[in-house]
Amino acid sequence: ALQAGIVGLPNVGKSTLFNALSNAKAQAANFPFCTIEPNVGVITVPDERLIELEKLVKPNRVVPTTVEIVDIAGLVKGASKGEGLGNQFLGNIRSTDAIIHVLRCFDDDNVIHVDGKIDPVSDKEIIDTELQLKDLESVEKKIARNEKMARTGSDKEALRGLEILQAMKAHLEQGKNARAFAVTPEDKEKHLYDLFLLTIKPVIYVCNVDEKSVVTGNKHTQAVQEAVKNEDAEILFVSAEIESEIAVMESFEDRQMFLTDLGLTESGVARLIKSTYKLLHLATYFTAGVQEVRAWTITKGMLAPQAAGVIHSDFEKGFIRAEVIKYTDFVKFGSEAACRDNGKLAVQGKDYLVEDGDIMHFRFNV
Ligand code: GDP
Repeated sequence: ALQAGIVGLPNVGKSTLFNALSNAKAQAANFPFCTIEPNVGVITVPDERLIELEKLVKPNRVVPTTVEIVDIAGLVKGASKGEGLGNQFLGNIRSTDAIIHVLRCFDDDNVIHVDGKIDPVSDKEIIDTELQLKDLESVEKKIARNEKMARTGSDKEALRGLEILQAMKAHLEQGKNARAFAVTPEDKEKHLYDLFLLTIKPVIYVCNVDEKSVVTGNKHTQAVQEAVKNEDAEILFVSAEIESEIAVMESFEDRQMFLTDLGLTESGVARLIKSTYKLLHLATYFTAGVQEVRAWTITKGMLAPQAAGVIHSDFEKGFIRAEVIKYTDFVKFGSEAACRDNGKLAVQGKDYLVEDGDIMHFRFNV
């Protein structure tokens, strides 16, 4: 499953946010969250389209799609050198697909800051530095291996690899993240992919703010925005404390009222999950039968047989064709039969590129 890891210094609100995510009734009571390990949760991805499909199809059940969230605690200054349980936690980050970096942007004298002052930009740099040092280790190890191969001068690939790795090394040594390194997709694939660098993973910055700042931000969030403006990363303002209150509210109306009072239309948790989903380059297709209306996760660019394989490997092996209705057509005409009558059901073969929002019906051999 695709996984996003929550990182940040101690006491910035990671666990509070993780618990809010765990308790969040993302859409409705029948979309549960489950904790598979103390620090790993599976969260359903809110999708208004499922609600519309439910109204039209009236299925026995609705199954949303999910993303795994891992709370990676214990990152402190010196983690890359094994401070605290540093190395172990850095290993946890390696297996994630994206990073949610929480930054403390709230003032509260009752909550101790590890460095004694609220400075999210400096906090971010401390975490970044630890991750960059770890990445430097990986790059240097590979340089040593490549140098042996490149020594004869006949291995062009090894020489090119060495060039890229040395440029990456210099880049990291300047305190920059690997994701900001300019490289062609081919070189990245050939020479960097196998390193599983930590700072190359896509990132969302979550500014944990107080209640007054969830809409407008504050001086701390402004400093963060300025500091990451070249990183092409999304920044979200979320109040972990408020989220944890919203998360336990049973009634949808209460939650909406609470949010409206704060000037919000959607909870921070919902915004965060949606952004994470986008960050992972995921797309959703649906199956819509009377038994079950269900959202399925694919990565963008998947062809119909691979998409079928997400349901079951037999669907991919025995793939014959797919009947496809666009979500907007389904909502417009109201049912599969009506779409068929109006020529809105397309029969697609194995070269069909599945699009976000497609409603699929697979035909396959068993
Ligand atoms: P972690 O170490 O990053 O996991 O931080 P925690 O989630 O344990 O939070 C540390 C402390 O900060 C706890 O006492 C939280 O109640 C408090 N805290 C977390 N988020 C907020 C917030 O948005 N506002 C305020 N005032 N306190 C918060």
